[in-house]
Amino acid sequence: MQPIDGQTSLIGLLGDPVSHSISPIIHNAAIREMGLNWCYLALPCKEKNLGEIIKALNNIDCKGLNITIPHKQNIINYCSSISDLAKSIGAVNTLVPSNQNQWHGENTDMEGFLSPLKSNNWVGKNAIILGSGGSAKAVLRGLQSIKISTINVIGRNINKLNQFLLDIKKTEQDYNTNIADIRILTDKDSKLVQTIKHADLIVNTTPIGMYKNSLNNNAIKRIPLGSEIWESLEKKVTLYDLIYTPRPTQWLQLGNKNGHYCIDGLEMLINQGAASLKLWTGHENIPIDLMRKSAEKYLLH
Ligand code: NAP
Repeated sequence: MQPIDGQTSLIGLLGDPVSHSISPIIHNAAIREMGLNWCYLALPCKEKNLGEIIKALNNIDCKGLNITIPHKQNIINYCSSISDLAKSIGAVNTLVPSNQNQWHGENTDMEGFLSPLKSNNWVGKNAIILGSGGSAKAVLRGLQSIKISTINVIGRNINKLNQFLLDIKKTEQDYNTNIADIRILTDKDSKLVQTIKHADLIVNTTPIGMYKNSLNNNAIKRIPLGSEIWESLEKKVTLYDLIYTPRPTQWLQLGNKNGHYCIDGLEMLINQGAASLKLWTGHENIPIDLMRKSAEKYLLH
C-alpha cells in the first residue's frame, strides 16, 4: 500500500454533513488498487465558506472533488464551466480542475443511477419518481435517456413540484433530451393509486426509510406513502430506492416479500464514484468490483 508522503495528492468530498459518507471507503480502495499516490477525504464545508474553500483547494493542487448535500446547486456559481448534462440537471456533483486554476463542473449521478437499469429495455415504459429534490432531476434525465415514455413525479408540496417542472422544462430547451411525458402529482391526488398501479418502475428519491437521516439526524423507519399502497402492485413492477443504509430499506423489504425486483442505492453510489474517478484520472479502467466489495464489507459493520 502506498504510504501518505510528501508527494500525496488530495481528492475528496465537500458537503455538510459528510461524516456519514462511505465515499472515502470506496475511493481509497480504488486509489490503492490503481497505484495512485492520492488520498480521498470527507471535508465538511458550510455554505458560507464554499467559494473560499474550493478556491483554496484548487490552489493546493487538489485533483478533484465530489459535491454533496447541500451544495450541489450552489456550486454551479463557482465553476468556470459546467457540462451540458450538469446544466440540464441543474446540479454538479463532481469538480475537475481546469488548466486556468479553476473548476469545471460535471454530474455523474445520472450515470450512476442508470448502471443497475442497463440490463433491461425500458423503452416506452412508465416510471414514477417519489420526491422532487436534487437527485430527482438526475433520475428524471436518466429515465429520459433510456426512453421511458411517461414519468410521474410525486411530491408532498405542489409549489415545489411546479418549480421542479419549470426547471426541467427550462433546461430542456438548451439540452437535447428525449421528450417524455412528464407529469406531477401530490401525494394527496385522487389519481395516486391508479398512477402507481400503471408503473413499470418506481424510484424513491426521498430520504424516507434512511436509517440515520443525515438531513435531520433522526432514525426514520417508514415507507414512502405508507405500506398499504404497495401491497396491491403487480410483481412486474421494479422498485428502486436511492437509499443504501439500511440495506434493504423497509420499502424494499416489503417489495422483496411481495416478489418485486428491487434495487438499492449502492450501485448508484459506486458507479457515480467510478465515473468521477474516470474524470479525475483519465483512466478508463476503474476497479468497480473492488469498490463494491469494500462498500459491502464496510456496511456490514
Ligand atoms: P433533497 O434535494 O433534499 O430532496 C429530497 C426530496 O424528498 C424532496 O422532494 C423532499 O420534499 C422529499 N422529502 C423529504 N422528506 C420527506 C418526507 N418526510 N415526506 C415526503 N417527502 C419528503 O435530497 P436529494 O439530494 O435528492 O437526496 C434524496 C435521497 O437520495 C437521500 O436519501 C440521499 O441519500 C439519496 N441519494 C443517494 C444517492 C446514491 O448514490 N445512492 C445519490 C444522491 C442521493 P420537499 O421538497 O417537500 O422537502
